[in-house]
Amino acid sequence: MCEIVLVGRSNVGKSTLFRALTGERVPIGRRPGVTFRPYSVRIGNLTYVDMPGYGFMKYRSWRDQERVKDLIVRYLEDHADRIITAVQVTDAASFLEIAERWESRGEVPVEIEMWEFLCDLKLNPILAANKIDRIANREQVLDWIAERLGMEPPWRRWEDRIAPISAKRGEIEPLRNLIKSRIEMASSSP
Ligand code: GDP
Repeated sequence: MCEIVLVGRSNVGKSTLFRALTGERVPIGRRPGVTFRPYSVRIGNLTYVDMPGYGFMKYRSWRDQERVKDLIVRYLEDHADRIITAVQVTDAASFLEIAERWESRGEVPVEIEMWEFLCDLKLNPILAANKIDRIANREQVLDWIAERLGMEPPWRRWEDRIAPISAKRGEIEPLRNLIKSRIEMASSSP
């Protein structure tokens, strides 16, 4: 069974995207991080997996934040063989501000750390740059994000990895196309 896995910080629009992709609403109860299990939906011979949101959340302790991160890391390592692509969802409108806040504290921003981890595990990651509807200077913001993730701008050189989308408006075509080509690649490789 092949899997498409969605990861992302809390509040980036991951549940909205999961619904746009699968037609299934993520059960509300698990969203505040009360439960820590991945949520999966099977479509044909593919399983879409929504991982719990990581990072800071109101009402979530530091210990619980660490638990979520550990769970995600372990899940991805255990399932690496069957994951066709890991989609890292980010809020493109606040990515830079949040990254800079972490860096000013001398820490590696959690989203950069996660992206590097997905690359190291060779999970053919896709960056879903969500909430693009909120950004006026899109090209520039996407260039900055690409650069922060180790992809030399312009971001368009990386269109096979970066998908600017608006999950809320249902404008997710670039991501659908990348997922489709990852599936084709996986089915044509031995
Ligand atoms: P999650 O915590 O990552 O699962 O995030 P949600 O899917 O619950 O979304 C968090 C907030 O972002 C909600 O208020 C959504 O309506 C909003 N949101 C999600 N996608 C988009 C988008 O593409 N554009 C805008 N402007 N808001 C979005």
